[in-house]
Amino acid sequence: MLLDMPTTDKNQNRYWGWGYQNHEYDPHKASLFLHLLAQRFALNTLAPKQIPPTVEQFSIPKTKLSEEFIARWKERGLSLKNEDRLFHAAGKSYRDLIRIRTNTLARFPDGVLFLQDAKHLDSLFVDAKKLGITLIPFGGGSGVVGGTECVGPVNNTIVVVDVTKLDRLLSIDHTARTVRAQAGIFGPKLENELNRQGYTLGHFPQSFEFSTLGGWLATRSAGQNSTKYGKIENMVQSLVIHTPKGVIETHQVPASATGPSLKHLLLGSEGIYGIITEAVLKIHPLPQSQKFSCAFFENFEQGLTCVRTIMQADITPSVVRLSDADETSFFLDLMLSKKWQKKLLPHWFNFKGLGNHPCFMLIASEGQTTHTNFHLDKIRSLIRSTHGKLVPRKFAAKWKKDRFELPYLRDNLMDHGFFIDTLETAAPWSKLLGIYESMKLAFFEQKSHQLLMACHLSHAYKDGASLYFTFMGVQKRGHEIAQWEEIKDLATNVIMSQGGTLSHHHGVGYDHKKWMVQEETPVGIEVLKAIKKELDPEGLLNPGKVV
Ligand SMILES: Cc1cc2nc3c(=O)[nH]c(=O)nc-3n(C[C@H](O)[C@H](O)[C@H](O)COP(=O)(O)OP(=O)(O)OC[C@H]3O[C@@H](n4cnc5c(N)ncnc54)[C@H](O)[C@@H]3O)c2cc1C
Repeated sequence: MLLDMPTTDKNQNRYWGWGYQNHEYDPHKASLFLHLLAQRFALNTLAPKQIPPTVEQFSIPKTKLSEEFIARWKERGLSLKNEDRLFHAAGKSYRDLIRIRTNTLARFPDGVLFLQDAKHLDSLFVDAKKLGITLIPFGGGSGVVGGTECVGPVNNTIVVVDVTKLDRLLSIDHTARTVRAQAGIFGPKLENELNRQGYTLGHFPQSFEFSTLGGWLATRSAGQNSTKYGKIENMVQSLVIHTPKGVIETHQVPASATGPSLKHLLLGSEGIYGIITEAVLKIHPLPQSQKFSCAFFENFEQGLTCVRTIMQADITPSVVRLSDADETSFFLDLMLSKKWQKKLLPHWFNFKGLGNHPCFMLIASEGQTTHTNFHLDKIRSLIRSTHGKLVPRKFAAKWKKDRFELPYLRDNLMDHGFFIDTLETAAPWSKLLGIYESMKLAFFEQKSHQLLMACHLSHAYKDGASLYFTFMGVQKRGHEIAQWEEIKDLATNVIMSQGGTLSHHHGVGYDHKKWMVQEETPVGIEVLKAIKKELDPEGLLNPGKVV
């Protein structure tokens, strides 16, 4: 269970892709996957590898920050370096990366303030108000919904406030089992320090290595073990947020009934209400054991029934992941290294009555060994009773090994001219299959793009679950953004029309904002805007996002 990942070094990160500059997805598996995609799209050859532009090739305009501001903030962490302005100009969505790769990013921040001390925020807000500067809070920059996008009038002066220097674990309360940490701490540092003291937070988003506590809180993130530990909003006991109106520190208690929950209004605020600087979170003893069950189902519907049955039987797995037939097929292509395994498996599927398009599921149980074993037995018996066919756990070991590596594969795909984007939602059990089938139909019926769609269920609840879609296709060179927009619109419209939420864990940002009127009633939107007006009357913070 110990992850023991090296502490994140943001200076070594790619501005044009995922993760570390000197790290690649397994080249053999990447090549295999690329050729498989080429085959699926009937391409004779792979498009030649595109080399992203160097920092020097971007036309980053001269900063609009005044001499006065620069003089005052330089010694408090302000950087005007082009590499910093470029890295902080976008997040990590397909739209972000394609604009960087094609050198079509229109706006760059005028400076990046590497915040040294939360106490500096009061004077920063005063200066921003006086000089008309827009402030964009920034954690790891791993967001995928345009949450850190530089938007607003073109002559706005923009400073990105990077919180990652505030990265200390401050204290652990062993009696209450809580940790207090600064918001800029990256996943590995927080988890490693907790592990050393025998604890885990239990929050492992796929972006774990390159995202921060503040970013998780600001976007209401969900980790891969969320079915047991909850989303980040279920873990947080209290938080400190600096707004232009003043500091709010929510009461540090396990529960209360003192009117509406202010804490929950601030969670998910995506930098529009204030800058989160600290939080107290629940922690758990490191699990003694973690055990997986793996199974195949004849179709996605059967798998959904199995997950629902498990969740409604008062069993709390930690990881739940059910892939549809297309995702299963990609997973097997990447995970099975031996040719004979790939040849034999279809025969086994047929022998077991699973047909030609089976769906793979993995479920983990973790905690005290007695708890793990008890739940594992129950899970396995429910898998059998819902027509699942159990397979060895080594399938899960392969998934576990690759889970933080897969984002690197997106870079390989983009290098060779493939479109790849992901999108997620959540809905009650009664609507999940409808969303899935409507999405399949919508993509089958559209003729503008040659696309493959894969889907998995993760983050399961008693009353519903989250679905995560991946779309892959061939890039329309010269029209990459228009292509992305069409696909994004099509998929999001399906989700909204079928009763799903606009986002289960990525957030709203800039990209999803136009659909918020379908997510909330007009009065609800007015309330969210009124809070913004109250906390940030001059609109200094992250304009153009959420509402
Ligand atoms: C490959 C990949 C995999 C991903 N996997 C997951 C996943 O499994 N689960 C998941 O939930 N998400 C996932 N994401 C999305 C992303 O990692 C999350 O949204 C994450 O929570 C963002 O954290 P960050 O520190 O990178 O924030 P940033 O990207 O820097 O910022 C995100 C938003 O939060 C605001 N913000 C950041 N820090 C603060 C702060 N201290 N105070 C106020 N506002 C702040 C920003 O203004 C912005 O609006 C993934 C993204 C990628 C690219």
